[in-house]
Amino acid sequence: MAILPFAIQIAGNMSQYWTETVHKLDPYIPGEQPQDQQYIKLNTNENPYPPSPQVIAAIDQFDMDRLKLYPDPESTVLRQELARHFDVGSDNIFMGNGSDEVLAHCFQAFFKHGKPLLFPDISYSFYPVYCGLYDISYQTIPLTSDFSININDYFIDNGGIIFPNPNAPTSRLLALDQIEVLCEKNASVVIVDEAYIDFGGESAIALTHRFDNLLVTQTFSKSRSLAGLRLGYAVGHADLIEGLNRIKNSFNSYPVDAIAQAAALASVKDQTYMSDCCDRIIKTRNDLTKALLKLGFEVLPSAANFIFVQHPQYSAESLYLSLKDRGVLVRYFNKPRIDNYLRITVGTDSEIATLITTLSHILD
Ligand SMILES: *Cc1c(COP(=O)(O)O)cnc(C)c1O
Repeated sequence: MAILPFAIQIAGNMSQYWTETVHKLDPYIPGEQPQDQQYIKLNTNENPYPPSPQVIAAIDQFDMDRLKLYPDPESTVLRQELARHFDVGSDNIFMGNGSDEVLAHCFQAFFKHGKPLLFPDISYSFYPVYCGLYDISYQTIPLTSDFSININDYFIDNGGIIFPNPNAPTSRLLALDQIEVLCEKNASVVIVDEAYIDFGGESAIALTHRFDNLLVTQTFSKSRSLAGLRLGYAVGHADLIEGLNRIKNSFNSYPVDAIAQAAALASVKDQTYMSDCCDRIIKTRNDLTKALLKLGFEVLPSAANFIFVQHPQYSAESLYLSLKDRGVLVRYFNKPRIDNYLRITVGTDSEIATLITTLSHILD
């Protein structure tokens, strides 16, 4: 091993063997998954309900002998089923290993143009990370004072636009007619990240028939209770999908394993289970909102499986720490504009009852 100069040794967490790119990276930090005790986990927006029984059956009945073979690199059958469900063609769908992977490919395929990529100042924190990874310049556009997106702020020269809808972590929904105007007026690719769309929004997928610059991403991780399976997809014009395929086939031709393809197919075929699950979560979200309003919280209108709240008398950080002490995990972001907010995932009714009781004790 080479002897390092003192300055590099004390930097810690650094290696002389890293490339310049790795040195400069500022990786995404996922919500904590502590192992020290059993927490009520309301911090990573997972679904509290199990996947559809049809999904479990598909995995149980999977012919394990098939694991000796590579999976279908194009996820053909699964894409056909999704295409039928969304009323688009199979060539309008791209499958990936979680929508994070799909998004990463999108950044590389569509956003590196010299002009800055635009996204909200308060948004999914993976976006700036991908910009770092692929060396894409970006400009954040401040949300309005009530944390909504004003599309007029995006009518500037740009190399692309991306935002989650509903937005994360604010939970607010942008109306479809606004997305329509945005796609119409914008010359570059617009990506709508619909990770939470099934919890109360209307998908922009229907608009992809009209706008060849619109790409919509969705995931099996939230509404379909399959975060552990790692599946996501993009829907858009066949030329955009072909761009993504070129990246995929230059990186990993087999991103979706055979068991995941079978399980996901069963999930798409069992639409009723998914929508029943979402209905339960929406009902719990409404109950949770009412209970928190009674405790004096301010709650942003949510179209997601989480809510974004603050209390005028208590700091979000202290509430987060007190809740953690008592075994309830929520998400606190130590970031400008939102450092007095908590993001709370909608759990089961009983988890939410515990949260409310615990909060009432803390506020007492
Ligand atoms: C959870 C989430 C994703 C990623 O989902 P995966 O499919 O699990 O990778 C993407 N975008 C947003 C805004 C999310 O919250």
